[in-house]
Amino acid sequence: MKVLHVSAELYPLVKVGGLADVMGALPQALKALGVDVRILMPGFPGVMNGIRIEGEAGQISGLPGVGAARLLHGRTPADIPIYVLDIPTFYNRPGGPYEESGDSHLKFAALSCAAAQLGLHGDRAHWKPTIVHCHDWQSGLAPAYLALSGLPRPATVVNIHNLAYQGIYPSTFLKELQLPPSAFHLEGVEFMGNINFLKAGLTYADRIVTVSPTYAQEIQRPEWGWYLEGLLTRRAKELVGILNGADYEVWSPARSAHLECHYDSERLSGKKICKNLLQRELGLDENPGTPLFTVISRLAPQKGLDMVLENAEYLVSLGAQLAILGTGEPMLEKGFQRVAKAHPNQVAVRVGFDEGLAHRFLAGADALLMPSRQEPCGLTQLYALRFGTLPVVRRTGGLADTVVDASPENLANGTATGFVFGPDSAWVLGETLGRACELYRQNPRTWTEVQRRAMKQDFSWKASAGHYLDLYQGLLH
Ligand code: ADP
Repeated sequence: MKVLHVSAELYPLVKVGGLADVMGALPQALKALGVDVRILMPGFPGVMNGIRIEGEAGQISGLPGVGAARLLHGRTPADIPIYVLDIPTFYNRPGGPYEESGDSHLKFAALSCAAAQLGLHGDRAHWKPTIVHCHDWQSGLAPAYLALSGLPRPATVVNIHNLAYQGIYPSTFLKELQLPPSAFHLEGVEFMGNINFLKAGLTYADRIVTVSPTYAQEIQRPEWGWYLEGLLTRRAKELVGILNGADYEVWSPARSAHLECHYDSERLSGKKICKNLLQRELGLDENPGTPLFTVISRLAPQKGLDMVLENAEYLVSLGAQLAILGTGEPMLEKGFQRVAKAHPNQVAVRVGFDEGLAHRFLAGADALLMPSRQEPCGLTQLYALRFGTLPVVRRTGGLADTVVDASPENLANGTATGFVFGPDSAWVLGETLGRACELYRQNPRTWTEVQRRAMKQDFSWKASAGHYLDLYQGLLH
């Protein structure tokens, strides 16, 4: 079985969010199960500089926006074979991979088209995928190009990592995207008079995967369907939710390359040292008994962090500490900075994206706040569980599937791993924070028990990769 994964992100070379982590781990887990897996990516600087380039895999012609381009092949740092679409005018630019510059539709149509051509014709050495597996809207046109080619083609899978991002462009781009006018209708690439890359993928792919069972249900309802719930409901039989895994080689307090002091569920004393080091690094009061809450996140509306900002003063009044690592909405960045300035011993903010700091925040904090309004899977809460940093989450998507609330009942029956609340409400989050502080202070032994249980949860990629393999096998039969 030959599977080509197509993505715009790949840990550790190009990372905006969880997609990178998935791409850094899933292909390896599939390889371990015997799948002949390869990756196709745009030639972003991070990729060109981060992989071992071994040569040219062929020349791809007929690409939207550029005509012909070189396809390079090489190996990722994890030794997975990778194809790189080498179009410097598109990809060798400063800024992040999704920086809008007026030609994003062409950048990612070219990626999709290269995937389709590899799927139809294979590379120079005759490697040809039996399955093309596309991730998010950036490669959403690939299943459309393949299906519309009318040629014998590989099977196709589209993975929704976040339905909120769809890649929507004016219908006037139809010709330069090389889509036939006959595809511009309700059951094709058309979406409210525009072209929708993700919808194209969802329409033409043989199977649709999203990243948690609960999210697979949520996107079939108007609240979180982003106007695609009708299509997703119609395709419910071909839609499956497979929970993402955590790469414990990278995200483990016993092994992390970014920690001065390591620990595990049997030796929690190291976590106390990590907490003290973090408090010192951030200029917070070095008090071991103060509950320290953290946020490590894109500061996007989806993440519900306005509810954390609303509760920041309340946390201060509870005598707790708050450490924020994130970047995004200026209003949130400034809001948190304001609170940190008013309470420098209790609140610290680091604006930016810093992988090492993310590990130190996870190791040093007592609890992670992730009150997302909507969360397809969420990885940070999985990492927090492994670091014994109890997640405080809203009951949605993958958060609902991975964290068990420390209710009296779940504490009694020995299943609690964090704190879960339901309503999208700052008040209810506040109540939950109060509950967490109380357990931390009044019942430290129970807190430690929950911590140990959280650390022993197994969300490794092995199980998830097995589900992907089942899906592939079903598809080929
Ligand atoms: P999303 O994909 O929606 O951003 P996930 O929880 O699935 O959310 O994945 C987020 C990933 O990005 C995690 O690896 C998390 O540690 C990382 N991350 C988010 N913000 C930052 C930041 N400011 N600095 C470092 N890592 C971050």
